[in-house]
Amino acid sequence: DSLTAVSVPSCFDYALRLFQARLRDAGVEVERHWPEGDVWVRADLVRLEQVLVNLIGNALQAMSEAPAPRLTLSIDQDAERVTIGVADNGPGIAEENLARIFEPFFTTKSPGSGLGLGLSISARIIDDLGGRLSAGNRPGGGALFTITLPRDKGAH
Ligand code: ADP
Ligand code: MG
Repeated sequence: DSLTAVSVPSCFDYALRLFQARLRDAGVEVERHWPEGDVWVRADLVRLEQVLVNLIGNALQAMSEAPAPRLTLSIDQDAERVTIGVADNGPGIAEENLARIFEPFFTTKSPGSGLGLGLSISARIIDDLGGRLSAGNRPGGGALFTITLPRDKGAH
């Protein structure tokens, strides 16, 4: 198969480089919460990068009116699994939409700014990698997307 050991911090670095100018122009503060050293999942590099780009792109759009936009990225691991978090301090996801945001073509954005495919494709990718993508709201406000993936236990 096309699955290999993929470094999650490197995937975040790739996505952050892609958004560097937009993050700076929007004055977004980026918080990184992950252990020293690398964290490895068994995945497909390009697909995992695509998912992180989708989630960070959504977070940026959600924070367009936030007075002090803050993107909080996290990586945790236990013996079997790695948990990856992408959180923002935008308005969060309306309760009645939470069950629908993973449906293809579901969007709350105006025509032209969202096709409503990012999350359905992302969830499909993570499923195919043997993981799970879930969404929720943070107690302090804003949305939190959580990916879990199998840890790669090989020698790196
Ligand atoms: P699109 O971004 O094109 O609308 P997505 O599949 O990426 O499509 O997202 C679907 C919907 O989920 C969005 O229209 C929005 O309502 C909601 N959503 C996604 N990410 C966030 C977020 N970070 N904060 C608030 N709502 C979000
Ligand atoms: Mg999107």
